[in-house]
Amino acid sequence: MKILKPYYYDKFTCIGNKCPNTCCKGWRITVDDATYKAYKDVEGTFGKQLIQNIDCEGKVKKFILDSDMKCPFLNDNLLCDIYINLGEEFMCRTCKVYPRVIKVHADVIEQTLTLSCPEVSRLLISSNKVIDFKLEEETHSVFKSAKTMDDALLSCLLHVRSLIIDIMQKRHIKLYYRQLLIIIIADKVQTSLNKKDYNEAEVIIQRFYHEDIINLYIEQFKNIKENKKVKFDFISKLLEQIISCFLDKDKYISQLYKKYLIDSGMTIESILGKYEEQFDQYYESHQYVYENFYVHTIFRYCLDALDDGDISKQVVLANIGYIIIHVFDIISWMDNNKELSIDNQSLIMGGFSFAFEHNPIKFNALNEFLEKNNLSSLAFQALMLT
Ligand code: SF4
Repeated sequence: MKILKPYYYDKFTCIGNKCPNTCCKGWRITVDDATYKAYKDVEGTFGKQLIQNIDCEGKVKKFILDSDMKCPFLNDNLLCDIYINLGEEFMCRTCKVYPRVIKVHADVIEQTLTLSCPEVSRLLISSNKVIDFKLEEETHSVFKSAKTMDDALLSCLLHVRSLIIDIMQKRHIKLYYRQLLIIIIADKVQTSLNKKDYNEAEVIIQRFYHEDIINLYIEQFKNIKENKKVKFDFISKLLEQIISCFLDKDKYISQLYKKYLIDSGMTIESILGKYEEQFDQYYESHQYVYENFYVHTIFRYCLDALDDGDISKQVVLANIGYIIIHVFDIISWMDNNKELSIDNQSLIMGGFSFAFEHNPIKFNALNEFLEKNNLSSLAFQALMLT
């Protein structure tokens, strides 16, 4: 077996009670059977407390959160009492693994991290280094090779993922053009995948490795006309649709939304119309933050298309993530005397991930909203990103 992971995977360490958004609050924490069994053998008062605080009613066992949605074992110093009393081996699988994400495809174990942990977001954006990936031999793996139903599809998805990441990391090209290029690539490859014509998909992928093809597209992109009104209307509609996913769940985004878009009576149109250009100039040397967000998202989700053969959906969702993060970056910058700190930026990225990546219902609802309103089309996406 081999392990493939981005360089920041090994750099991650939980910052414990220094974390601005602890993962021991706000979500369901399931307790796996092996851990539950081990808890039943713990003697004394703490053993009793463990069992009393686990809900065994439903299909999965879970900790009973308090009225503040906090894990009952998170103490007043924001440290874990299970870890303190029993040691790391008594943590349930959910807590041991988070924020790591591990998937096995054929004989490759892919490891990454989820951005819902603000420390991961901070790691991702605090260096302007191009994200590189390590491929290592793993001799003592507990994982077994995973059979794929469709090897040709897997191979095609691996190739298109590499290409998209490669294009996204071409820093000499404007971010907007890179975004358009990956939309076009995903759209073209998708057309071939729909026909199950993998040879055609491979030919398309190879074409986009040629600089002259890329330059031809860029020349065409220069003719795209902005339509601010349509763009602002879309972003307002999108926010209206999804804001309930953040409100009262993600502190920082909710706070910004309430302050600027409810209490002050400002609108997306007034905020973006007045400040977007200024912010983009201010943040020009930080475009790698968005690049890294795309690279991370594409690496993490592209192979999910193995389930439904839909690669363009993954790119559209990366774009939607970018649009939301960019809007709240602008609001945060306004809120902090026209400065955007890495800490605030990582809270925004983490907030987006928290609302969607761990919530398949919301994720699917967002997808349905885009499809129903015909907002996933290539032309529309291009307009949104101007
Ligand atoms: S969110 Fe991340 S840094 Fe914060 S407590 Fe959880 S794992 Fe640690």
